[in-house]
Amino acid sequence: MDQLKTIGAKPASEDTIQHIKPRVDPATLHHRQLLDGAFWTKIPAYRTVDEATFLDHSWQAKNSITNPQKLLAAVQDLVPKAFYEDVEQGFHRSPMSIRVSPYLLSLIDWSDPYNDPLRRQFVPVASRLLPDHPKLTLDSLHEQADAPVPGLTHRYPDKALFLSLDTCPVYCRFCTRSYAVGVDTDVVDKVSLKATEDRWEAAFRYISERPELEDIVVSGGDSYQLKARQITLIGNRLLEMPNIRRIRFATKGPAVMPMKLITDTEWVDALTAVVERGRKLHKEVVLHTHFNHPNEITAITKRALDGVFERGIIVRNQSVLQRGVNDSVATMQLLVKRLGHCQVHPYYVYVHDLVKGVEDLRTTLQTALDIEKAVRGVTAGFHTPTFVVDAPGGGGKRVAHSFEHYDRETGISVFAAPSVKPGFFLYFDPIDTLSAEVQERWKSPAEQDKMVELAIAQAKANQQASARASSVR
Ligand SMILES: *Cc1c(COP(=O)(O)O)cnc(C)c1O
Ligand code: SF4
Repeated sequence: MDQLKTIGAKPASEDTIQHIKPRVDPATLHHRQLLDGAFWTKIPAYRTVDEATFLDHSWQAKNSITNPQKLLAAVQDLVPKAFYEDVEQGFHRSPMSIRVSPYLLSLIDWSDPYNDPLRRQFVPVASRLLPDHPKLTLDSLHEQADAPVPGLTHRYPDKALFLSLDTCPVYCRFCTRSYAVGVDTDVVDKVSLKATEDRWEAAFRYISERPELEDIVVSGGDSYQLKARQITLIGNRLLEMPNIRRIRFATKGPAVMPMKLITDTEWVDALTAVVERGRKLHKEVVLHTHFNHPNEITAITKRALDGVFERGIIVRNQSVLQRGVNDSVATMQLLVKRLGHCQVHPYYVYVHDLVKGVEDLRTTLQTALDIEKAVRGVTAGFHTPTFVVDAPGGGGKRVAHSFEHYDRETGISVFAAPSVKPGFFLYFDPIDTLSAEVQERWKSPAEQDKMVELAIAQAKANQQASARASSVR
């Protein structure tokens, strides 16, 4: 049995090739089948909107839905009145503002709004909300605690996060930065991070005074909201610093308003100029975006991203794993393949942060582990996202599989981040996914402490056991 097996099929004769596997029916390659045509005209308010108007980014921005009344005016009788009342109450209880572009609104299946994956991300409904996890805080990632200058988080040794402004082309219910992003809501008074050049100047000074910093994420808020001249200003200031080698402009824009990349040539030209200048200086400038569901990718998206690709701009994607949105193998595989089809590299899938008011959207860590296993292997390795937990408390991103300990019964996972910050970092599965008995235990602060202490003790024991077995020092 230790002889080598013969691998492969019999050699092909001159006119026939032996297919080892059955050929795939092209009709099943759903990632290439993108929604096209005037799909928006099924929304009552957009019935007469022509393509040129719909592709105009300023029309999209002007007509964005920012409250339940505007939603009703757009969608009208496609959904029952009770749904609007549910949205109205959801809106008052939400830590995030609402902003939905006409493009996104047109992609929602209004015959089944409760289950639609886009509705779930952007439009809150009171009847589906769950109580927050007791261990949840507003800025769970400690972005403010790690900020030497307001809006500049320096957590990792060689890279920093620059929050250039606090608005976005849409507002996501699940936003990690609900402490700052958007306008004040009934539930949260926001930290202000305006696009003021004084605040930016302080950030630039700090970055230039840190020789170890090489990589800046320009986020917010969202780079789509920066004016063309602000893209130029930020890009040039950073490119001119000898220590900076990499810049990423982060924007959800391509996923929620792709037409800007087609019709706002001033903005795209400004970005392209920074990318090209960076290339001459041997510095990488890329776009990072945020698609969560394959329905967000249409023929308009493809056209927009083709233009970006032609300009030689690399695009990477970061998704957030969300219950009822993309927490199935089929959906995540389709998303990854569809992003690849548009030459976008799926970079990360984040296990949902512990964010206020969106417990209904979080999944367990186990869900992430299962989906990761099924996604790896379907396409190129560089199109295969890494599933990460952004460790609450400032531990930074950790690979989901790399926990020191995971108690699936109490839903507590324990991570360590030896090159970022000492100590242990805990993630908590949503309480409603746990057994009835454990849900009871989570109601008592004393029991909570016991469960946490036990998980940490087990993590320490696991670390000691692997240290004994390992030669890594
Ligand atoms: C995510 C993040 C970065 C960038 O991290 P990568 O893993 O390189 O994408 C930098 N700073 C902060 C604070 C972050 O949260
Ligand atoms: S686009 Fe990003 S920063 Fe803006 S609301 Fe959504 S998740 Fe938050």
